Amino acid sequence: MIPSVLPTYNRAPLSFVQGEGAWLTEADGRRFLDLGAGIAVNALGHAHPALVKALTDQAGQLWHVSNLYQIPAQQALADRLVADSFADTVFFTNSGTESCELAVKMARKFWFEQGQPERTDIITFEGSFHGRSSAGIAAAGSEKMTHGFGPLLPGFVHLPWGDVDAVAAAIDDSTAAILVEPVQGEGGIRPLPDTDLKALRALCDEAGILLILDEVQCGVGRTGRLFAHEWAGVSPDIMMVAKGIGGGFPLGAVLATERAASGMTAGTHGSTYGGNPLGCAVGLAVMEHVSNPDFLAEVNRKAGLLRQKLEGLVAAHPDIFEEVRGSGLMLGLRCKVANADVVAQGYAQEVLTVPAADNVVRLLPPLTISDDDIAEAVARLDRAATTLAQG
Ligand SMILES: *Cc1c(COP(=O)(O)O)cnc(C)c1O
Repeated sequence: MIPSVLPTYNRAPLSFVQGEGAWLTEADGRRFLDLGAGIAVNALGHAHPALVKALTDQAGQLWHVSNLYQIPAQQALADRLVADSFADTVFFTNSGTESCELAVKMARKFWFEQGQPERTDIITFEGSFHGRSSAGIAAAGSEKMTHGFGPLLPGFVHLPWGDVDAVAAAIDDSTAAILVEPVQGEGGIRPLPDTDLKALRALCDEAGILLILDEVQCGVGRTGRLFAHEWAGVSPDIMMVAKGIGGGFPLGAVLATERAASGMTAGTHGSTYGGNPLGCAVGLAVMEHVSNPDFLAEVNRKAGLLRQKLEGLVAAHPDIFEEVRGSGLMLGLRCKVANADVVAQGYAQEVLTVPAADNVVRLLPPLTISDDDIAEAVARLDRAATTLAQG
């Protein structure tokens, strides 16, 4: 008999009932160190006092009004994002995949309004992940995500990861945009080298096409800059955001330049919940912390500390781990044993990690994790690796 919860997930037998900072308490009382953060969502950790206050204050005032009206918290969050990024304008969604939907629509509408409606194709990359909507799975294109769900949304051209020459060769009169994650998350924590991101930007500029960045996982302070593309010194035309920006409240956004967004006039797109007062109140509190240069400096310092300890872990367990990779507090351990076994042994040692493609275990701790918690987390991973090595 089918379970009452649609069984699309293989769930671990863990039920968390409370969270504080980088810690989660299981129903049986065990305390787990959380290096998953809800897959890069709980950017400020669990139950951050500023987020609890922002949410409860807003909840006592006004939860929801339609986008038929002015929403001051939404205006404030949009102003903040525009001030702190390349963008001129923002649309709020509730998730990453909804941000993908709008990014694709915006790019196509742009060319339609430019009088080149044949420019509909979007170049994407193998190993990418853009969510589970029809546009998201078609954009990623992998067998795993698309099998059985045809006919797929047409207009996506899939190229090998980071193959700039293949992109240059693929751009033609039907190309609207390039869509890429600056650091692939689900694909196995694969950062696109800065030189490649620069090269993609240059190709877009030459052909006049749009660069869409998916920063749903790598954005909002995760790599030590507010947005990951800042490391390469180039900016996109359109950017998808979600996960960390809500700190645990479902919130996403599409940021765009005035030019890229020029086709999106009144009535061309909408969302019932996107940008509602509750989500934006929390998003604003998240941004107030994460966009602070001192906060980002701390993320970078802690990222260095975690990375150094993980290099030591890999050196101590050469039969279990192959390498550390990633950027900031978006790190991956490529495994020599099955990554699922490492994650499971982590559960036994009360530390949470997240599997990714390419046999990688992802470490995406809250950006607020303390030095002590970093040391404790790596000690637990070390015990997990020792246990695995003993077979
Ligand atoms: C998680 C993720 C998405 C999808 O976000 P949802 O909120 O699950 O729809 C899209 N792109 C990237 C890079 C992601 O990591």
